[in-house]
Amino acid sequence: MFQVNLGFSRLPVKIGKVLVVIGLYPFLEINLSKLKQNIETLQKKCSQWMLKPVAVTKGFCADSKITDLLYDSGIQTFADSNISNLIKLIDRYGHKAQYQLIRLPMKEEIDVILENQIIPMVSQIEILNLFNQKAKQLHARSSVILAIETGDGREGFLPEELLNNIDQVVSFNDLTIVGIGTSLACLSGVLPQITTLEKLNSLRNQLRIFLHNPHLFISVGGTTFFSLWEEYSQPPPVGQIRCGEAFLFGSDISRKRNLNWLQQGAFHIEAEIVEIKSKLPDSTDRGFDAFGRACKISSENNYPRKRALVAVGLQDIDDTQLFFEDRNVTIIGATSNYLVLDCEESQHDYRIGDLVRFQAGYGTVLRAFLSPYIQKRYIE
Ligand SMILES: *Cc1c(COP(=O)(O)O)cnc(C)c1O
Repeated sequence: MFQVNLGFSRLPVKIGKVLVVIGLYPFLEINLSKLKQNIETLQKKCSQWMLKPVAVTKGFCADSKITDLLYDSGIQTFADSNISNLIKLIDRYGHKAQYQLIRLPMKEEIDVILENQIIPMVSQIEILNLFNQKAKQLHARSSVILAIETGDGREGFLPEELLNNIDQVVSFNDLTIVGIGTSLACLSGVLPQITTLEKLNSLRNQLRIFLHNPHLFISVGGTTFFSLWEEYSQPPPVGQIRCGEAFLFGSDISRKRNLNWLQQGAFHIEAEIVEIKSKLPDSTDRGFDAFGRACKISSENNYPRKRALVAVGLQDIDDTQLFFEDRNVTIIGATSNYLVLDCEESQHDYRIGDLVRFQAGYGTVLRAFLSPYIQKRYIE
């Protein structure tokens, strides 16, 4: 049941002077038709909810096959935390789309941001000032979104901080403040409430007057915010939602639930078993693992158990974001280059050379796209 032969041929690749056959495994399989359906469903829902979806591309390194699906289905705004991904997108789609930098900018990024008309999120008066000065020098206009802190303890102006400094903010003549933005459930797992949006709305209304900008919008993220549209009949006063997890995984990890209007399982990791033996780790005198983490000593199951070593590791995947099809197998952990499974309870007779397949979550997909050791397989 867990053996798959996908019939891919192994292509020799030249490394230095040597022609080698690069391993086919491990690979990340990307189901483009599932993603396409999710993107289309999301577009429909958002238009019913009078909400503009902003596609966050940092989770898959702005991979072109996926961003093409987004662009072709009408996504008009892309957001990423890495400027190199945004530049890649601008090269591909030009200025028919808009681009947001959703990590606070580093000083040395300001020129590139202005030259490429990227919209950054900013949370410090000093940085607004720098954007204003640079924009003046370059005779460019700078559009920015003000990041607002709403409880996650991550980035953003405190509302009172912004209002106390409003004279200075208003004096930045070469800046257009297009919106205010917030993020929740990122660092501290704080979930959005309707009151979160009421506070943002009241701040937005004040800023609209101060800034003489009736179009100032509210931008929220990430996927955790969708619950507000599912729970309330009156659409909240929000212009855009920045999301990645929703269309990639059809889930909302902040509530450990699937979004039932979307599909799950668009990403899988497949890798090969390279050792299978019964093992009992020595429980005397334990230190820390290879990553400096404390090791749990389990007192039950204290007898040799069948373990499979799989040729994929933390360099390529996140072992807490991998879901195995065989429920009787548990993931014990991973080192940088092995994933270790406990197969003692399984009905299946795993053998050396078997391929094992896991559904991949956000953390795994993120690493797999960044890892040169993981092949990418697209299925239509
Ligand atoms: C990553 C990120 C998002 C997207 O979050 P998801 O949970 O993947 O939808 C939105 N906004 C900001 C600022 C982010 O960093």
